[in-house]
Order: sequence, then structure tokens, then C-alpha cells
Amino acid sequence: MSMITIDINSGARKLTVQGGGSLLETLRTHKVFIPSACGGQGICGYCKVKVLEGAGSPLPVEEPHLDDAERAEGIRLSCQVKVRNNLKIRIPAKLLPVKEYACRCERIKNLTCDIKELRLRLPEGKDMNFIPGQYVQFRAPRYNGSPGEVSRAYSIASDPADAEAIELIIRRVPGGICTTYVFEHFKEGDEVLINGPYGEFRLSGTSAPMVFIAGGSGIAPIKCILHHVVNTENTRKGIFFFGVRALKDLFMSEEMRQFEKAISGFKFVPALAQPEDGDDWNGAVGRVTDVVAEYLAKQPDAAEYEGYLCGSPGMIDAAVKVLADAGIAEDRIYYDKFS
Ligand SMILES: Cc1cc2nc3c(=O)[nH]c(=O)nc-3n(C[C@H](O)[C@H](O)[C@H](O)COP(=O)(O)OP(=O)(O)OC[C@H]3O[C@@H](n4cnc5c(N)ncnc54)[C@H](O)[C@@H]3O)c2cc1C
Repeated sequence: MSMITIDINSGARKLTVQGGGSLLETLRTHKVFIPSACGGQGICGYCKVKVLEGAGSPLPVEEPHLDDAERAEGIRLSCQVKVRNNLKIRIPAKLLPVKEYACRCERIKNLTCDIKELRLRLPEGKDMNFIPGQYVQFRAPRYNGSPGEVSRAYSIASDPADAEAIELIIRRVPGGICTTYVFEHFKEGDEVLINGPYGEFRLSGTSAPMVFIAGGSGIAPIKCILHHVVNTENTRKGIFFFGVRALKDLFMSEEMRQFEKAISGFKFVPALAQPEDGDDWNGAVGRVTDVVAEYLAKQPDAAEYEGYLCGSPGMIDAAVKVLADAGIAEDRIYYDKFS
């Protein structure tokens, strides 16, 4: 296949590339990183770019991800566009500075039987400069039994003031390609490529009270945001509802108690959905969304809150409904679905 030109944002970058691959992968090879959660399978719909010239019509697999306005504008899933002709594309300008970092794994900590915390040391002198709440993409290389290299999104959990490393909190998905790599192959001392930062999930600039809701590894970006609240001496009132199954699944309680001490007006409320026999527990019990609903029903200023939610799509959908039922407007509810 002959060489092909990709013009990005009217000449802001011009690449000369080998044709034949997908646009997503070709851009990545040339260090232009477009977020993608599903690793190029056309499932997540994250890797949208505007193609002004050089690609045909959207493929059937893209259709569910595009609305009429996007189709009219030439938006495509970059994982489904084959690089065959010279292309003119437009991507958000904020993606151009996204970089790849070769990190060394400094520490792996088991937080529960199926959640690990990874501390990844950035290359000397390379600060990622992320906004608290954002995520990185972790590249799991091919391993015995995997279909090939994949990239997956993981929210940054570490203190933004710690410029030397990025910490991630990863829950094992049974049979998952990337998490099987993390749990069965990845070791302290190993090198891994991450790229980022990405995402719009972040603290707003208002002074509204905040209700944080997370399940399991969804605590990651909220922990990062709480560090930021401490670092910036932000005095907004906040409450964090953290849902897990049983006591053995609860982690980071000590860190959250430290945040309670450091941030006046901040409260941490862990909730066990299904406590086990013998769990020594006198805290909240039930689905985290029910615990939130009960709390908001007692708050005269419930509608003033902003919601910050992270976790599985099912939990987020239920939490959005609870917040909306409490009178919180949709544009005050921010979330990252871990799908
Ligand atoms: C913006 C964003 C931030 C994220 N941050 C985090 C984070 O901080 N910590 C974290 O643990 N995860 C996070 N995720 C989820 C993560 O990107 C992966 O989807 C997840 O780790 C599974 O990857 P995998 O390769 O192991 O599984 P895959 O091989 O992709 O999936 C295997 C099977 O499991 C299903 N599946 C995928 N994800 C889940 C899930 N979460 N629960 C149940 N079934 C699933 C798939 O549909 C598929 O059938 C985030 C996702 C997004 C979009």
C-alpha cells in the first residue's frame, strides 16, 4: 500500500503514513491519541473524529453511535475508518498534546480480592499535567491467550500534587482482556505504556454542595478530586457515598477518614449492599443509590447539590435517576461510566 497523507485540523499536523490500517491505530502509531475504551471494536463509540475528506460512508457498526447531525457533519468512528486515501480530519485541539508515557510499575497493592492499586512511575522529568477526574489509557500487550494488544481506560486515582507517578485502581472483570493481564501477568518492575490525559469528568468551578457516588473501583477519580480539594483548600460541602458488596470489598476507608479530617464539611458514607454473616458493621446497608435517596430526601437544599458519579453503567443510571428525583438538574450531574 502506498504512502498516504493525513491532514489534521487544517495543517496543525500533517502525517505521512502507510495505508491499510484503521485510522485510530494509524494515528496512534504516529503519536496522535484518540480515546477509545473498547480497543477498536466499534463498541464504545468514544473514538469519534470528523472526516472532511477521504473516507466513504459510515459502516453499519458505526450507525448506532451517530446521530443525524453527526452523520451530516462527517463524524466517524476512527476505529472503523480504513486508511486508503489521503484524509482530511478534524479532532478536538485538546487531543493534540496527549502523549504516551513509558512507565515502570513501582508498586502493586491488593485492595480487595478483585481490586488492585497500581503505582506507575512516569519517565524522569515527564509530568502528565492532568485535570483531577481525567483518565489514561493503559496498553496491555499481547499475552498467551489474548487476542492481541488492547488499550483500556482507567481513571487517575493519585494525588495531582504527586508529579512523579500515576496511580490506578483496577477491578478484575472475569475473562476481561486487560484486567486478566493486570491480575495475572503484570508485575512490579514491569514497564507499561499509558497515554493521556483524557476526559471531561472534573470538579466544576461553583461553590455548590457536592454529592459523590461510586461503586468499587469507581472510587478512583473521586479520590483524585478529593486530593485536589485538599490541595486547593476548597471549602465546598461534600458527601461521598461509596457502595460495595460486603465488608471484605470495602477499601480505602482510612484514606477517606483522612479526607474527612482535612476537608471541613466532607463526610464519607460507605454502604454495604449485602453484608455477610459475621461482618462487624454498623454503617449504612443497602444499595448505594437507596442510601443516597434516603439522605437527599432529608436535605432541604437537595436541589442545590451537584452530583459526581463513577462506576458501572447500571449504577450510574440508577444514581442519575435518584439525583433527578431529588430535584437536581441534569446539567449539575457529572459522571464517567466505566463501560
Ligand atoms: C472513562 C472510563 C474510565 C474507567 N476507569 C476505570 C477505573 O478507574 N477502574 C476500573 O477498574 N475500570 C475502569 N474503566 C473500565 C475499563 O476501561 C475496562 O472496561 C475494564 O477494566 C474491562 O477491561 P477488560 O479488557 O479486562 O475487559 P474486556 O475484555 O473489555 O471485556 C470482557 C467482557 O466483560 C464485559 N465488561 C467490560 N467491562 C466491564 C465491567 N466494568 N463490568 C462488567 N463487565 C464488563 C465486556 O462487555 C465483555 O463482555 C473505565 C472505563 C471508562 C470508559
